[in-house]
Amino acid sequence: MNQPDFIPVNEPLLDGNEKKYLTECIDTGWISSEGPFIKQFEEKFSAQVRRKHGIAVCNGTAALDAAIEALGVGPGDEVIMPTFTIISCIGQIVRSGAKPVLVDSDPVTWNMDISQIEAKITAHTKAIMVVHIFGLPVDIDPVLNIARRHGLKVLEDAAQMHGQIYKGQPCGSFGDISTFSFYPNKHITTGEGGMIVTNDDQLAEDCRSLRNLCFQPHKRFVHERLGWNLRMTNMQAALGVAQLERLDEFVARKRRMGTRYTQLLKGLRGLQLPLPRTDYAENIYWVYGLVLDESVGLDAEEAMKRLAAKGVGTRPFFYPMHQQPVLRKMGLFESVALPVAERLYKQGFYIPSGMALTDDQAQRVAEAVRGVLA
Ligand SMILES: *Cc1c(COP(=O)(O)O)cnc(C)c1O
Repeated sequence: MNQPDFIPVNEPLLDGNEKKYLTECIDTGWISSEGPFIKQFEEKFSAQVRRKHGIAVCNGTAALDAAIEALGVGPGDEVIMPTFTIISCIGQIVRSGAKPVLVDSDPVTWNMDISQIEAKITAHTKAIMVVHIFGLPVDIDPVLNIARRHGLKVLEDAAQMHGQIYKGQPCGSFGDISTFSFYPNKHITTGEGGMIVTNDDQLAEDCRSLRNLCFQPHKRFVHERLGWNLRMTNMQAALGVAQLERLDEFVARKRRMGTRYTQLLKGLRGLQLPLPRTDYAENIYWVYGLVLDESVGLDAEEAMKRLAAKGVGTRPFFYPMHQQPVLRKMGLFESVALPVAERLYKQGFYIPSGMALTDDQAQRVAEAVRGVLA
């Protein structure tokens, strides 16, 4: 697979202060979650998204788990969320005994179709989970309005949105609680890592406690609540501080990549490209997705196979939550059909979109896509 000129779907850029700060961790012996980079990263990151609190955790899934638990989601509650997302979003909702209520996708932006939300609200609805997909934010103002009118909490998964702005405000600043991931394919990475941000003092305190096994300050080994060990290490935070210094540069790189792909692929028949902008945001192209029209005679799986043969790495789109075998086996979503997301999975995939992608590689990827579609 890894022939020398194979273009991987993602490669991070680690050529700033990453090595210097990591060396500092080793030289000082601060490698656990007690080190000074944790606080620095939490403060700098939360300031960047204009939030009062930042709680660093070991990955983006853990951030979602803790956020769901902190919001008090449990048996009898319902949480409205998109079906077209990563499994991370639904895990703790299901484990807590609450019921996920799914919304289909918008066929143009690929984000959750916000016009379907209000009809799904019942007396049991506790929260709306918003997940910004692939680089364009959800049109979140109307969602916040619905939540306010119905007294619902909003959890914002901004894992793909570092540096993205919605109507002048940073993504990650909208939910009662918002979460990020720093997996290596995100705009900034710590290898593995995540962050919870909020303005709510109580939610922040709960998340800090849940992250740290709910140890109590005075009676350390006496527990009133079950938490997890979700702590981030000082070494991860050191990478995070170095990466955050370059966020503007990284967002600009991704926008350049997206614009370039669009120029190179525009006009190809039967190929839907990401929207460069909407009236509320400009795409930051977390990944550059493609959706094949059925008239092309290829589905995503076949196209990805042919691209691999041409040395181009790809990834499929998300498999909708309502079709997940693990959830169907639990008796969930038995009669649910959400056709837009089902089609996105069948016809959609993304091409190499990593931070280290070169112009020359983008050109070769575009040529390969043209070749496959010809
Ligand atoms: C990456 C991602 C996550 C999970 O983050 P991990 O750090 O991989 O656990 C959650 N939600 C979304 C939308 C993501 O893109």
